[in-house]
Amino acid sequence: MIKATLDGSHVERLFTRIEARRDDLVALARDLVRLPTVNPPGDAYGACAELVGRRLASRGFRVEYPRAVGTPGDCDRHPRINVVARIEGSGTGRCVHFNGHIDVVEPGQGWTVDPFAAVVRDGRLYGRGACDMKGGLAAAIVAVESMLDEGMPWPGAIEISGTVDEESGGFGGVAWLAERGYFSPPRVDHVIIPEPLNVDRVCLGHRGVWWAELEMRGRVAHGSMPFLGVSAIRGMTAFLAAVEAELYPKLDARRTRMPVEPVGARASTLNYNSLHGGLSESYAGLPSPLVADSCRLILDRRFLLEETLDDVKREIVELAERVVRERPGLAWSLRDIMTFHPTMTDEMAPVVRALDGAILRVLGRRPSHIASPGTYDQKHVSRIGHLHDCVAYGPGILELAHQPDEFVVIDDMIASAKVMAAATLSLLCGG
Ligand SMILES: [Zn+2]
Repeated sequence: MIKATLDGSHVERLFTRIEARRDDLVALARDLVRLPTVNPPGDAYGACAELVGRRLASRGFRVEYPRAVGTPGDCDRHPRINVVARIEGSGTGRCVHFNGHIDVVEPGQGWTVDPFAAVVRDGRLYGRGACDMKGGLAAAIVAVESMLDEGMPWPGAIEISGTVDEESGGFGGVAWLAERGYFSPPRVDHVIIPEPLNVDRVCLGHRGVWWAELEMRGRVAHGSMPFLGVSAIRGMTAFLAAVEAELYPKLDARRTRMPVEPVGARASTLNYNSLHGGLSESYAGLPSPLVADSCRLILDRRFLLEETLDDVKREIVELAERVVRERPGLAWSLRDIMTFHPTMTDEMAPVVRALDGAILRVLGRRPSHIASPGTYDQKHVSRIGHLHDCVAYGPGILELAHQPDEFVVIDDMIASAKVMAAATLSLLCGG
């Protein structure tokens, strides 16, 4: 009986059903975009979670709204409210989970449409979050609802979650839920995150990230007699010169086997997020003549599967130590801000193969396997949940994420909904 659900005519009927729900899919995505779930601070999370939860509850899902109390930013005005919905199939089996983050980054400047009006024009839905990633979440919901409408029996369970704070590290969302078993077997076996990575690509994982603050400390003195002090800015400048001459060439030359897109990110990278030395910028009037006794640099180092975090840190530490050794009176310290390790799902993992087959069937072309230059919630599923059958797959165009006039192509939402439905059937029923 269950095998019968996988014959071609069933899947084709399911695809027809998804196409017929085009207007419903667009309406759902528009409703999601109209809720300005901007993070920070984390606006409208409760309303957005309820929009998803009420809809799925009416379809027979058991719905929870776990609030990540006490996580960064959580307060009564901006509660970190997630939604997790689960529906059981016709027998025991595995569980496929779709996870979409409901937060969006602030719109910023340069929009030609209202970022929260959810304008539909020329086959596209415009708005902050349309691409990253409310269009993907809506596609996943309609994919699963269409499976239910079709009435075919399937074993196991399906879960859909809308989670918060992905854009700020996911601590109140997937990380918090993963710590409580929401992303671990036996509850969940396969996770698909509909991040915007293009409709014909499967994203296996991402590079690692290490954020740290390096501080150089010197000694304050009158600016007219700098030889009586120790300039932390000059110390930092010497460090930056050493990085420029010695470390950057090494990082540029280091290549990964991870299929990161864009290709420029297949190397180790280092960005300076901020640099500040000397007098605070908030003074009024004229600056005072002082030798800077502190200079702080925020480092954003993206690292590869082939690198260890210890090595990544050591490269910075060695240069800082050398600079300080050569400059009497100068001291340095390093403070970790955030670390996430690289993660990459095996290309032969069930969720990858299921999506590959579905993409080929729906789009008629072989999918490419990529990895992301930046991290997303997969890190928490793999590191905290210890669930490694997890990838990102969704309809948006990666380069549009966080841009003004962000949009998602409606045909891509439909195609990705078909892919998600077919992949789910294949994961639950085999085939
Ligand atoms: Zn995203």
